[in-house]
Amino acid sequence: MVGRLTVAILSTAAAALLLLWASAGTRSPLNPPDVRVSLAVKRGLAFIEGVASDGKSFEENGFDLLWCFCSISQTSADPELRDLTWRFGHERALRWRADHSRVPPGAGADEVYQLVAGSHAAECLGVPDESLRRGLEQAALRITPEEMFRFDPRKEPPPSDIPKVCRKCGTRSARGSLTCRQCGAELELRDRYGVWCDAIIASYSAEVYGLRFGASLADVLQWLPRMHPYPPPGRASRILYEHTAYAVTHFVYAMNGYGLYRLRSEWFPREYEYLRTHIRNAISGRDTELLGEYMDTLKSFGLTEADPDLAAGTRYLLAHQNPDGSWGDPADPEIYDRYHTTWTAIDGLRSYAWRGERVMFPEAMVRLQP
Ligand SMILES: [Zn+2]
Repeated sequence: MVGRLTVAILSTAAAALLLLWASAGTRSPLNPPDVRVSLAVKRGLAFIEGVASDGKSFEENGFDLLWCFCSISQTSADPELRDLTWRFGHERALRWRADHSRVPPGAGADEVYQLVAGSHAAECLGVPDESLRRGLEQAALRITPEEMFRFDPRKEPPPSDIPKVCRKCGTRSARGSLTCRQCGAELELRDRYGVWCDAIIASYSAEVYGLRFGASLADVLQWLPRMHPYPPPGRASRILYEHTAYAVTHFVYAMNGYGLYRLRSEWFPREYEYLRTHIRNAISGRDTELLGEYMDTLKSFGLTEADPDLAAGTRYLLAHQNPDGSWGDPADPEIYDRYHTTWTAIDGLRSYAWRGERVMFPEAMVRLQP
């Protein structure tokens, strides 16, 4: 009852504000984009809720979708958005728990990572499970860094000699292999920025859940200076540019707790510069997914809508929302792409309730290699 009443009051307030703007013209002290942003964000969220309500999509991406609801409910400056994401996320977390009550025997690294990420998000949404936690603690102990990250971040920086999984037969070959050990097909090597970004994501999920996959988040993040200088986009392939950009944004997420804390640009000057330089490229390149990530990471460095690039990003996102509330290509058959691009656009548009200026894991900052 209280929730419904709050929504009614807020909706009435929003309508009254719109009327005020309409009558006050350009001299209005109120900010019309704020209401457009708020409505766009809620339409985007409704699209993601639709995806999360679909059985098959939730089965495949539930752990990630729960993190979306947890993250927004923890970091949004809008109390209504915090409430919406928490209540919907809580109901979905109950469903996810019912489907994932134990670690399957022989679960591999990817499966354990997904269970850790999902279990952390479900806890965040008010649905803990101590029995699964104990199972995951045991599973994490037997997984080596090489199995989880494909290299050992305690001993070496992200390498460039990890082959991709064979496209013909799905076999994983040893480091340095240029042909598949199973079928002999030619293999491509992964670039080190993609390897690093994946390691950041997996080790962060473990760290916030209180576990380790052999190596810690600090072990992974310590290699930041070895990733400099970032390849300039003019000379990088499209895929290397994307992997570099995601490595930069995910390094920032690991440091700001995915939107919990404000960072100072002088702490990470090269990352700040990178984001500042490339936000315009994302707009001109119509890359919604990267634009959203550039916008929210730059907000954590203190940029506001007063910044022309951030304002241009907001205008772009408001102008390119699909009729169904999503962002990105509505014809894309991959449901992950559909909801994830929508999620990054929401994160780019929304406002954050920063909990002060600090890094999420100070020990990781101290360990940065020269
Ligand atoms: Zn093969």
